[in-house]
Amino acid sequence: MNYHNITKEDMLNGEGLRVVLWVAGCNHHCKGCQNPETWDENGGIPYDNAAEEELFEALDKPYISGITFSGGDPLYPNNRSEVFRIIRKIKQELPNKNIWLYTGYNWEDIKDIEVIQDIDVIAEGEFIEELLDNNIHWVGSSNQRVINVKESLKCGEVVLLEQPKVAK
Ligand code: SF4
Repeated sequence: MNYHNITKEDMLNGEGLRVVLWVAGCNHHCKGCQNPETWDENGGIPYDNAAEEELFEALDKPYISGITFSGGDPLYPNNRSEVFRIIRKIKQELPNKNIWLYTGYNWEDIKDIEVIQDIDVIAEGEFIEELLDNNIHWVGSSNQRVINVKESLKCGEVVLLEQPKVAK
């Protein structure tokens, strides 16, 4: 798997201060995507041992709430095994950190993948330019959902993450 960046005190991609892993590769090709340079799976640089060490060291800081996988699409087919391996390792080594993941896939397409249960929040769906909405938190268009994974799996239906009120 290739990646573009590891950001270490990010406030824009999930609650709290977060580490964000920006992976390479996305086959959704949404019109108006803000990161088209991440579509190519061969873009960026290889996610190697040094990158993993950097990631875990940043995530281990006490003021960091958790990690967000973004991109690109962490669930791009060729990224899945590596992303799932990292998620399992985080659950083992840093179980107090929460895990968010952005994907262009819909919840219905991914909810049955085993490792999904180890993720706390999934922001899902393709970005649709015509449905751009600046008043919703964490996603760009109104078709996209920010899903409370554990509650959704428990109830058998989509439970959205409770959103902070938007100041008018
Ligand atoms: S899923 Fe995300 S990264 Fe991929 S094209 Fe759509 S907006 Fe861009």
